[in-house]
Amino acid sequence: MQDRFGRTIDYMRISVTDRCNLRCVYCMPAGGVDSVPHEEILSYEEILRVAASVAQIGISKIKITGGEPLVRRGIVDFIRRLKQISGIENVTLTTNGVKFYELGAALSQAGVKGVNFSLDCLNPDTYEQITRVDALSKVLSAIELSVKLGLTTKVNCVPIAKYNGSQWSSIADLAKKHPVHVRFIEVMPIGLGKDYAPVSSSRIMTQLKADYGQPTKLDIRQGNGPAVYYAFPNFQGNIGFISAISDSFCDSCNRVRLTSDGVLKPCLCYSDGVSLKPLLRGSATDNQLIDAIKAAIFGKPFQHNLCGEADETSETNNMVKIGG
Ligand code: SAM
Ligand code: SF4
Repeated sequence: MQDRFGRTIDYMRISVTDRCNLRCVYCMPAGGVDSVPHEEILSYEEILRVAASVAQIGISKIKITGGEPLVRRGIVDFIRRLKQISGIENVTLTTNGVKFYELGAALSQAGVKGVNFSLDCLNPDTYEQITRVDALSKVLSAIELSVKLGLTTKVNCVPIAKYNGSQWSSIADLAKKHPVHVRFIEVMPIGLGKDYAPVSSSRIMTQLKADYGQPTKLDIRQGNGPAVYYAFPNFQGNIGFISAISDSFCDSCNRVRLTSDGVLKPCLCYSDGVSLKPLLRGSATDNQLIDAIKAAIFGKPFQHNLCGEADETSETNNMVKIGG
C-alpha cells in the first residue's frame, strides 16, 4: 500500500525477540536490559497473523530481526510457516551470526533467501571489545556457510572510530575475497548509539580508494534497503553505504517495523506506534486488524529527525528493542 506521501510500503522488519547473546556497545548495555516478560512477547501464531494481514495490503518482503532472532526457540519452523503465507515473497534475516552455523542449513531449507551478518571488525580483540563476547570465529564460519548455501550474504559494519577505525579495509576485504556485500552503516543516535559520533561515508571511502583503487558507483538497489553501492576493481561483492544521518533516504522509505511485543512502528526514530496486541488478543476480526495496520502505515511520518535536537527524537529504547 501507499502511505500519505505516496511511498509504497512493501517491506516489514519483524523483531521476534528483545533478547540477545551479544552486548554490542552501541546497542545494549553490558549488563543487558530488562527483557519484556515472555507472555508480553507475541507468539509465533500472533506474528503469523500479522504477516498474513500485511501480505494482503502489499507487504511482500520480510526481514526477521531481534534482539538476536536465532536465540528464540522454534525460529526455523516459524520461518517455514511465514514463507508459506500467500503474498510473502521474500524472507531474509539479520543476525549476529553466533548461532547461524548450527541453524543455517535448516533456515535455508525453510526458505530464507538472504542473511545480513552484523560484524564490525575481523580482529578478535576488537570484536570482543565491541560485542563483549569472544565469538568471532563462530561468525566467520557462519558467513562461510551462508555463501556455501548460496544465500545472498551481506556483512553490516557499524564504523566507530574509537573501536574499528583502522579496520575498515580489512572488513571490506571480505567482499574482495568472497561473494558477499559489505555495507557500512552510520551509527544512529538512538539509545546507546548517542554515545558515538557517526563516521562519514566519505572518510571510509577515502581509505578504501587508497587501498583498493577507484570504484564505480552502481545504479542498483540490492534487496530492500537504502544502501548506495560501489564496485571496486576485482571484488566479488559490492561495497555499500547506509548513511541515515549524512544522506537521509526517507523520501524513498519503504518499510515499517513490528516489535517483539507487538507494536507496529511506522518510523525507527519515533517511539510512536500502534500496539496490535490488544487486537490480536481480543476479539478483533481480521478486517479490523488490517484496518488498524493500514491506519498506522498511512500515518507514517515523512522523515526521521535524527539530525534535529536530541529531544526531538522521541525513541528512547536501545536498538536491541527495535530491531535495527
Ligand atoms: N542481533 C541482530 C544483528 O545484530 O544483526 C539483529 C538486531 S540488531 C539491532 C540489527 C542491526 O542494528 C545490526 O546490524 C546492528 O549493527 C544495528 N544497530 C544497532 N544499534 C545501532 C545504532 N545505534 N545505529 C546503527 N545501527 C545500529
Ligand atoms: Fe545484539 Fe544485534 Fe544489538 Fe549486537 S546489534 S547487541 S547482536 S541485537
